[in-house]
Amino acid sequence: MTARLAYAFIGLGHLGGNLAASLLRHGFAVAVFDRDPAAVARLVALGATAAASPADAATRAGNAITCLPSPKVSEAVLAGSDGLLDGLAAGGTWIEMSTNGRDEILRLAALASAKGIETLECPVTGGVHLAAAGKITVLVGGDAALYERHRPAIQAMCAKSFLMGPVGSGAVIKVITNMLAFIHLVAAGEALMLANQGGLDLAQAYHAIVASSGNSFVHETESQLILNGSYDIGFTMDLALKDLGFALGMARDFRVPLQLAPLVNQIFEVGTQKYGGGAWSTQIVKLLEDAVGTELRAPGFPAKLEL
Ligand code: NAD
Repeated sequence: MTARLAYAFIGLGHLGGNLAASLLRHGFAVAVFDRDPAAVARLVALGATAAASPADAATRAGNAITCLPSPKVSEAVLAGSDGLLDGLAAGGTWIEMSTNGRDEILRLAALASAKGIETLECPVTGGVHLAAAGKITVLVGGDAALYERHRPAIQAMCAKSFLMGPVGSGAVIKVITNMLAFIHLVAAGEALMLANQGGLDLAQAYHAIVASSGNSFVHETESQLILNGSYDIGFTMDLALKDLGFALGMARDFRVPLQLAPLVNQIFEVGTQKYGGGAWSTQIVKLLEDAVGTELRAPGFPAKLEL
């Protein structure tokens, strides 16, 4: 039997904290670093080793995973002082689970490659509640043999994985699926408001839509968080705007005249001005609630999403 690989894990936020916990649950040795000591403490309590820096974590483990808020932060953690490239030995792997644009991941992978480090691009999709259960979906870009080498770790964190092609292909499909999700979210809010103003019972309207041709994953999950009033999706408006920016950039690069994504981007810009970039992305529906002067609420939906 081949020895189980060990991993450095940098970025233990809403998503990364759950992914790192899945690795620990499956018996992987994980050396963690985050600039937030409380996030590190949560993972140490689950069996992780605390490292002094990304370089230290990478030296301990030999391979490194990141789940960070922006390409700028990923670059600092990868190639900055005391970064992963200072700690990984040639032949090691950097697995990037943050959401990046295609250009960004290609540029960062080239920095890693110059130091003899291979990159596996592994952005995920499905939300924090699926990550917590080890059931999130991963969209892989990279070499097939490298993917095979890290498959046990990927399977510990993710229920479904799709090898999309070389590095960069994961970013393309990830940005596409998030673009769809934000369009669906705004649409779900509009649908629920029409139902409300049309005098329908909102819980019954929710269930009717789930069983209809207008259903979506976003309606099934996020509409529950609107109706229970928590909006708590574990994903912020800042992150939504980052991803929509990547989608608009791809539209320019690939010469596709998108119409819906720019409009939804504008709506999120207004939402961010009104509620702040740290507000949950689901709160975008509050714009409509405020405009109409009524809240979309119904009994019977749990405070947190359940599987
Ligand atoms: P988050 O803000 O909750 O977590 C980011 C973590 O990175 C925080 O713990 C923060 O302290 C840490 N961090 C920031 N700068 C750092 C640095 N220089 N060094 C070390 N640690 C640093 O964000 P998140 O929601 O977990 O998202 C992480 C990534 O995953 C993003 O790229 C996001 O787009 C993507 N993503 C998130 C979700 C989700 O549902 N939250 C789903 C899919 C993809």
